[in-house]
Amino acid sequence: MTPPVLSVVVPMFNEEAVIPAFVARLRPVLDDLDLPYEVVAVDDGSADGTAGLLAQQASDWPELRLVRLRRNSGHQAALTAGLHRAYGDWVVSIDADLQDPPETIPRMLRLAREQGLDVVYGVRTDRSTDTAFKRHTAGVYYRLMRRLVGVEVPAQAGDFRLLSREVVEVLRGLPERAPVYRLLVPSLGFAAGEVSYARAPRAAGTTKYPLRRMVALAWDSAADFSAAPLRLATWLGAAAFVLCLALIVFGVAVWANGAVIPGWTSLFLAVLLLSAVQLICLGLLGEYVSRIYRTVQNRPTFHIGYDSADEAGHPVEIP
Ligand code: UDP
Ligand code: MG
Repeated sequence: MTPPVLSVVVPMFNEEAVIPAFVARLRPVLDDLDLPYEVVAVDDGSADGTAGLLAQQASDWPELRLVRLRRNSGHQAALTAGLHRAYGDWVVSIDADLQDPPETIPRMLRLAREQGLDVVYGVRTDRSTDTAFKRHTAGVYYRLMRRLVGVEVPAQAGDFRLLSREVVEVLRGLPERAPVYRLLVPSLGFAAGEVSYARAPRAAGTTKYPLRRMVALAWDSAADFSAAPLRLATWLGAAAFVLCLALIVFGVAVWANGAVIPGWTSLFLAVLLLSAVQLICLGLLGEYVSRIYRTVQNRPTFHIGYDSADEAGHPVEIP
């Protein structure tokens, strides 16, 4: 088999409803490119028929490869697994639900080759099909990250992007196992371009990003790329100190006039408020310590249980 020029990495978690439509749309686009390619479908520990359906599709699509994770490890970890098992000169990551139109892939590849770019982001110009809630939270997220990360993060660029082999090798060399790629990639500083596309509604199935996961992604983004939350403790401490000084001056002035300030309530509230602030700061600190701990442990965040091609990219039998 000729080594692939293009690898398409697709993380899939319980996506049986959308796989037939996805394959039917992706395949003609890739066939039309007229170059050797592979599709690396990463089954992120799905509990539904995703694995069986993929194996079935692969039986008459030799370019479709299966990588199965032993358990659900999350979108970013599944992407990492895909990057580790993609052998093309170019690697594009795309969602399985057809929200990222496969027809954009040739445009990305063309732009990268014509302008000598290493990264091409898919930028969502039209998100009218997303819910208002998703659009607003996404808007806040990208604005906040631009300020926190300190590098130019393209707004509205999710995980639909094209990477050159060089970038993939840099990413593979990093110790992180499930980084937030949409922030990590821009922070590397490779020559990058953008291709815009309209975000389509999910073709079938339901979102795999409930609010809980959205919050987790936002917090990972902030904590992995910035120490600003830690600095919050310093600022809160400084504010409390200034307030305290003002109260001392006030207290002494009142005392000099021969009075005392009554104040069970104010005393109690002040103690309560300050302990709350201290606990929050301690919690923040704990979050960072746990990140250090996790990094030191260096446990893999995903286990590849099965790969339908070997390290050299040669096909192996599908059981
Ligand atoms: N996904 C995954 N593992 C997970 C959650 C999601 O591989 O634990 C995949 C999912 O199958 C899809 C992509 O990540 O291909 C994006 O998920 P989804 O479309 O549900 O997110 P949304 O578009 O709603 O933000
Ligand atoms: Mg989606």
